Amino acid sequence: MYDPDNIFGKILRGEIPSTRVYEDDDTLAFMDIMPRAEGHVLVIPKTPCRNMLDASPEQVAAVMKTVQILSRAMMVAFEADGITLQQFNEAAGGQEVFHLHFHVLARHEGDRLWAPG
Ligand code: 5GP
Repeated sequence: MYDPDNIFGKILRGEIPSTRVYEDDDTLAFMDIMPRAEGHVLVIPKTPCRNMLDASPEQVAAVMKTVQILSRAMMVAFEADGITLQQFNEAAGGQEVFHLHFHVLARHEGDRLWAPG
């Protein structure tokens, strides 16, 4: 089930601030508050969706389209050598915020992801 009071629901409604980097009719992208790389962006659908397990094909398509746009843009913006995508489903799968999201991380040759926080 989807709880609209999750943090990303509040960001979507403008109830808490975020650093927005991209938006279209169906998706929003903003900087992660605890980045694990110099460039760490989160991409979410604007419609209610808990995670990949209950996403519609349309929601998946819209989010992945934005993930690709952001990945290409971040290669340039962060002068990156590569991009890592992360995505977690349910608490046992590592999910902490229950609104579907993809992590897009800009990577540099030989780097390591930063520890959380
Ligand atoms: P996950 O659910 O995939 O495990 O991770 C949720 C992500 O949301 C984490 O990387 C965390 O840093 C990020 N996050 C948690 N609260 C906020 C917030 O209030 N604003 C932003 N921009 N990111 C957040």
